[in-house]
Amino acid sequence: MFRIGFGTDIHRLVAGRPLVLGGVVIESELGADGHSDADVLLHAATDALLGALALGDIGMHFPNDEERWRNAESSIFLRYAVGLMKERGFVVCNIDSTIDLEKPKLRPYVDAMRTNLANVLEIDIHQVSVKAKTGEKVDAVGEQRAIRAQVVIMIEAKGETTDGHR
Ligand code: MG
Repeated sequence: MFRIGFGTDIHRLVAGRPLVLGGVVIESELGADGHSDADVLLHAATDALLGALALGDIGMHFPNDEERWRNAESSIFLRYAVGLMKERGFVVCNIDSTIDLEKPKLRPYVDAMRTNLANVLEIDIHQVSVKAKTGEKVDAVGEQRAIRAQVVIMIEAKGETTDGHR
């Protein structure tokens, strides 16, 4: 039994903040503004996995007005979702993602992001796809005002599933 999930996230780009993507610090003049470390890739991946499980969204589980999540490493959120998935008897089949960012070019960082995602999701790097696109100078991404990530994830039941997840 397979289930699919979709997640998306957007953050404003500002000076004086680090840019963290998939747990990798990117050398950039602008960083992502947000309550946690504002890692759009991990936020979108968390929403995708919660979506595959029909267990709400990241904001339900980790309210962004709670002080304890200030500057939190976003791998915490994805690890939590992985825990919920495993409790219900599922494993990840594969994950595909696209990051929209005008600059810098993300190609040099992609394999490090894939490795981090594979570790958190407890899968092989070959099950993880990270793609990057520019915004072609249009809209918030193209004007360097925002960074966006979109993620789809496929999970598969292994053995007994619980909580009506069939
Ligand atoms: Mg976010």
